[in-house]
Amino acid sequence: MADAATGVVTVNPGYTLGARSAPSTTAPKTRRLANGTRVRIVCQVRGTRVTGRFGTSRLWDKLAAGDYVSDTYVQTGSDGRVAPPCGGDTPPPPPPPPAPAPAADAFHYDDPGAWRGPSSCSGTFTPGAQALRTWLKANYAYTRSIGGYSCRPNTANTSQLSLHAEGRALDWMAAAGKPAQARAVNRFIARVSRDNWRLGRAMGIQELIWNRRIWTATYASSGFRRYTGPNPHVDHIHIGINRAGAAKRTSFYR
Ligand SMILES: [Zn+2]
Repeated sequence: MADAATGVVTVNPGYTLGARSAPSTTAPKTRRLANGTRVRIVCQVRGTRVTGRFGTSRLWDKLAAGDYVSDTYVQTGSDGRVAPPCGGDTPPPPPPPPAPAPAADAFHYDDPGAWRGPSSCSGTFTPGAQALRTWLKANYAYTRSIGGYSCRPNTANTSQLSLHAEGRALDWMAAAGKPAQARAVNRFIARVSRDNWRLGRAMGIQELIWNRRIWTATYASSGFRRYTGPNPHVDHIHIGINRAGAAKRTSFYR
């Protein structure tokens, strides 16, 4: 069995090599090693496949400090093993860290995903949008027509899905120019925005567009701003919800 070996970190000029806590490209970085750094390799393991300066390999070097680097960035004089296998079986690479979930009821805006044709659409309202639609119909007049599922790109950015294509947006048809209808919508806005948008956050609302004005969770404290998009939204209010709300993970839906 080979003994511990030494190697030299070899990266492109100006770059550094990230050492990681496990032999995986998704493991947390522990430190950065400069080009030319001499390292002591105590053992080698199989991990994530990496293409580096010395080809493509699953071999990772465990360094004396206890962290790991891909062998493809370490000049050892060999493409194969130069040090013993790390104790026993190779530990499986850790699973990628879960995407951070927004804190419940926080202001949060989720950009829509990429438009890759009709197959990228959700096919129907998300559970949260469906529940919000039912709630609106039960609580407000002039709610006979609430739609908004539509498989199409974002009109403002055609490389993105429309929020409607993700089933995360409702279009409540009400006319801003008809006082009774406008009153119903304005009562809804007053209700969800009260107490720093307590109910709006609980619903996961990330954008409202109504009567030439827009509010987004990204600029929550700026309130409603002038909306100059192609559709003035004078015949409907657009209600977009974030992914937590769409998945019924915010408090309103529990
Ligand atoms: Zn809309």
